[in-house]
Amino acid sequence: VRRVVVVGAGMAGVQTAVALREQGFTGAIGLIGAEPHQPYDRPPLSKAVLLGNAEHSAFDVDFDALSVDLRLGREAGALRAGEHTLDTPAGPVPYDVLVIATGAEPITLPGAEGVPGVHLLRTLDDAQRLRPVLARRHRIVVVGAGWIGAEFATAAREAGCEVAVVEAADRPLPGALPAEVTAPMTRWYAEAGAELLTGARVAAVERGAVVVEGGRRLPADAVVVGIGARPATRWLAGSGIELGPDGSVTADERLRTSLPDVYAVGDCASFPSGRYGRRLLVHHWDNALQGPRTVAVGIVGADTGEGGEPGEIYDPVPYFWSEQFGRFVQYAGHHGDADALVRRGDPDGPSWSVLWLLDGVLVAVLAVGRPRDLAQGRRLIEVGARIDAERAADPAVPLKDA
Ligand code: FAD
Repeated sequence: VRRVVVVGAGMAGVQTAVALREQGFTGAIGLIGAEPHQPYDRPPLSKAVLLGNAEHSAFDVDFDALSVDLRLGREAGALRAGEHTLDTPAGPVPYDVLVIATGAEPITLPGAEGVPGVHLLRTLDDAQRLRPVLARRHRIVVVGAGWIGAEFATAAREAGCEVAVVEAADRPLPGALPAEVTAPMTRWYAEAGAELLTGARVAAVERGAVVVEGGRRLPADAVVVGIGARPATRWLAGSGIELGPDGSVTADERLRTSLPDVYAVGDCASFPSGRYGRRLLVHHWDNALQGPRTVAVGIVGADTGEGGEPGEIYDPVPYFWSEQFGRFVQYAGHHGDADALVRRGDPDGPSWSVLWLLDGVLVAVLAVGRPRDLAQGRRLIEVGARIDAERAADPAVPLKDA
């Protein structure tokens, strides 16, 4: 392999370039990104950058020192896999190996597109547009009580805005967590002085107001829509690459796609999890940090031609964190198939955890203000450890000893 081209200069794309050099790849690396900004980290966009406590969140990576040819402000328009060529506004770019790392794009609210004062929160530009909105202490309606909605509501309350959050489901974080663990989170909104309307669907977004089904009209100087994201893979239409029903590039266990010499990693790619016996599409930072190593090992391994299947298998324990309403919330694993739930600590208190077990084996952990539970739990999940549910229910017993 002489030339690797990476499309998408977010966490996964940048880490792929870094990992290739770490793995000893000496060929050319091109990194092509649609956004004009120096590549940056997204989590601070709903936290420090939004509140103005940090100006930006650019990665501390010296692309020149790594001999990475960084091309910003260029959106790849098409992939011609037969010719090993990527089309960009600056002309065709040939590759020996292509890595797709185009991330995800926020889902828009039907009927709200183009209405003045309606925002999304995905990019640095979005965050910079929202900063003055917070500074003016506007009345804000947030649509969606997911991770982004909760973090945005936190920042907006901190900035002194009046905040109402409209959620169609009967509870916050409906897509991520089961009802029995989100009940205390409902109270976090009220404690922070944000109004949470559950079971509430948006009927219309007008200039200056959001109307909820049933007729209630919420005044809104600004509206922030946080109803999820989908893989940014529309540009791949016509390339012949296999996409899943969720729009993800369906990678294999080594993050190779259905096209020869094309890998996919990060928010845009799903992969088969041997650990969980299903295909996973993970939209979290840690996945965009870890996946690139597998890609780099695969590319370098295929090059050295060592016998058998090249590279390593990607089968992580998914992990993410969120900072909301003054709490540090962390989750590791996948609770879908669990048959038992164990609580550690009082969910009305400042710190508590929830463990999910399957046949006595720990499969997932949610930790609120208990980072040690998360760290220990994550390791136990990785090795498939059995734990004693009764001992684990005592928050004074370290999880690793349960
Ligand atoms: P992205 O970061 O989306 O990067 C993809 C890049 O590709 C983008 O810059 C895009 O412009 C570019 N691109 C797209 N299409 C093209 C094209 N055709 N040509 C060229 N370039 C293209 N995760 C956590 O675990 N914890 C958190 O607290 C957390 N907070 C978050 C807060 C916010 C506001 C957001 C938006 C996300 C947060 N996440 C968090 C999720 C985490 O940031 C993502 O999982 C991570 O950024 C994924 O990295 P990625 O490189 O796959 O995709």
